[in-house]
Amino acid sequence: MKPQIAVVGSVNMDMVFKTPRMPVPGETLMGHSFHQVHGGKGANQAVAAARMGAKVHFVANVGDDLNGQSCVQALVQDGIDVQHVRVMAGSATGVAGILLDDAGENCIVLTTGANALMSTADIDKAGNTIAEAKLLLCQLETPLATVMHAIACARRANVKVVLNPAPAQVLADELLCQVDFLVVNETEAALLSGVAVVDVVTAERAAAALLARGAKVILLTLGALGMWVATPANAYFLAAFEVEVLDTTAAGDTFVGSFAVAMAEGRDVRAACMFAQSAAALAVTKLGAQTSIPYREAVERQLL
Ligand code: ATP
Repeated sequence: MKPQIAVVGSVNMDMVFKTPRMPVPGETLMGHSFHQVHGGKGANQAVAAARMGAKVHFVANVGDDLNGQSCVQALVQDGIDVQHVRVMAGSATGVAGILLDDAGENCIVLTTGANALMSTADIDKAGNTIAEAKLLLCQLETPLATVMHAIACARRANVKVVLNPAPAQVLADELLCQVDFLVVNETEAALLSGVAVVDVVTAERAAAALLARGAKVILLTLGALGMWVATPANAYFLAAFEVEVLDTTAAGDTFVGSFAVAMAEGRDVRAACMFAQSAAALAVTKLGAQTSIPYREAVERQLL
């Protein structure tokens, strides 16, 4: 039986420009190449969870444009239930302009489009689907009020909540208290904890501060270094897998979607983190967002 996971989140078309380096203001730079790929944190995490073997029910908004059609088609190809993906008449699908330099760093400009119009009514329509899931996954590329409504819906039904508060924004303790697994990178951890995260020592401090704010388990990802895990019972560092980096886009999303599946299958937090790190490491060896998300078999193979 596949675990059921509900994902509430964004859909974007990613426009990826490969460039030798980042341009400076006012400069026109000749790029290496251009690729258009399906993205959005919600969609990426939904795809990661589906490729790791879950039955994913996605709750999202797209515009009534070609980008929206293409993004939804890609989700369907990954076996994702798109019954609750609403096509908003007269609005554009979210678009992300991504600059990717030779060093593998990225800079992103995002216009949220239909994602910004996701409402609490959209969540209510998907209420039964969320309540029947094993786990709910949310990020912050959709309105905070909508995310909070989805989390409240999950909590009422005793559905575990994974929140990836990205892009980083200030959140109240009342919301963090509702979160079973808070997955943050250095930037999000720093904003929410007030501790600048620059290494493992400061990650430990930030994670402790986040536990004190009410989230039950903190997963603080540290890029190529790995991650810091903090639970009420213990706290520890897990090293990342060593791989050749091509593009770090969607490493975090691959991590979150894969972690959710492993937890929904009943693994413990440490095993779920290693499974997720294996998936995320494979994602950085390929270009793009959804194009780089691996399938379960490769993730398991790397863990052997
Ligand atoms: P992004 O926004 O680029 O998707 P993020 O900032 O949310 O990512 P990271 O902390 O960069 O998240 O990465 C998440 C996880 O992915 C890390 O904990 C690690 O396991 C894996 N990872 C990221 N970069 C690398 C790398 N260069 N080599 C191996 N694993 C990596």
